[in-house]
Amino acid sequence: MPEVMQPVAMRLKIAIQKSGRLTDHSLDLLTRCGLKYSRGKDQLMCYGENMPLDLLFVRDDDIPDLVQEDVCDLGLVGLNVIEEKRLAFKARGVSTLFEQVQTLDFGRCRLGLAVPDGFKYESAQSLNGRRIATTYPNILNRFLNERGIRAEVVVLSGAVEIAPRLGRADVVCDLISTGSTLAANHLREVETVMESQAVLIRTPVPIAPEKQDWTRRLLMRIDGVEQVKGSKYIMLHAPRSALPAIAQLLPGSEAPTVIPLEGRGDRVAVHAVCRENVFWETLEKLKAVGASSVLVLPVEKMLA
Ligand code: ATP
Ligand code: ZN
Repeated sequence: MPEVMQPVAMRLKIAIQKSGRLTDHSLDLLTRCGLKYSRGKDQLMCYGENMPLDLLFVRDDDIPDLVQEDVCDLGLVGLNVIEEKRLAFKARGVSTLFEQVQTLDFGRCRLGLAVPDGFKYESAQSLNGRRIATTYPNILNRFLNERGIRAEVVVLSGAVEIAPRLGRADVVCDLISTGSTLAANHLREVETVMESQAVLIRTPVPIAPEKQDWTRRLLMRIDGVEQVKGSKYIMLHAPRSALPAIAQLLPGSEAPTVIPLEGRGDRVAVHAVCRENVFWETLEKLKAVGASSVLVLPVEKMLA
């Protein structure tokens, strides 16, 4: 039987956010790993057409539980959600049954404390005796406990930023990326509680032998995609004598390939993968040390 047609139990299951800030990035990552799928509107599950894996579309808060309960083998979710679950499980004496495989290059934000305009904030101690609205009570409580602050934590499932205006809280502890939502609600960020970004988690339960090969391949592909994000392939011509200076200028590159140029004296072609973006300033500096014909190309895939 072709492996893409395997019975449901033998197919890898990956939980991703159904609709929200992580959805497009998660699907883009899996597409870049070679996955083909067709997703109907409001569909909760969709089948990989060319790999024996299925996607489950759920609320992001449910992703750690699905992996914890071994319903899904892998999940793509924010570190903030993972950490909140971990602390909640710990408080209940339940051990965490998911492992963080790697961080992913999307979903960057921070969990921060913000106070209304006019609130006199001097240090975290200014939070003493205040009511703080949040969706992340466990992370917030840890922050407060570590600093010996006694405050009332008001748990809300959403719309945290309007809690002060509704008189439900004095301060908010919410996810922030640009800060524009805070500004629109007349709030000012005063503390970072935690930095976050998307992460890949997996079940620690041994994966069924039929799924192991694809798990390994997919994890390797995800790692490959993550490694090349932001990487560039740079090609240039230069006099051999400029190689040390060029090597210094190439950001995050390892052992460039140096190829002699036929009939061009001591001029050589240099090819290198740079693990960081290559900016115009770098190209100008390369030219200044003798480089010419400089080309910068995006890297699509990399297999270490
Ligand atoms: P769901 O319906 O799935 O529960 P949600 O409202 O909790 O959706 P989103 O607002 O889509 O979730 O955010 C999902 C994740 O995106 C967050 O948990 C966080 O990891 C990340 N994120 C990145 N930037 C932000 C931001 N500015 N505000 C909120 N979340 C952000
Ligand atoms: Zn959520």
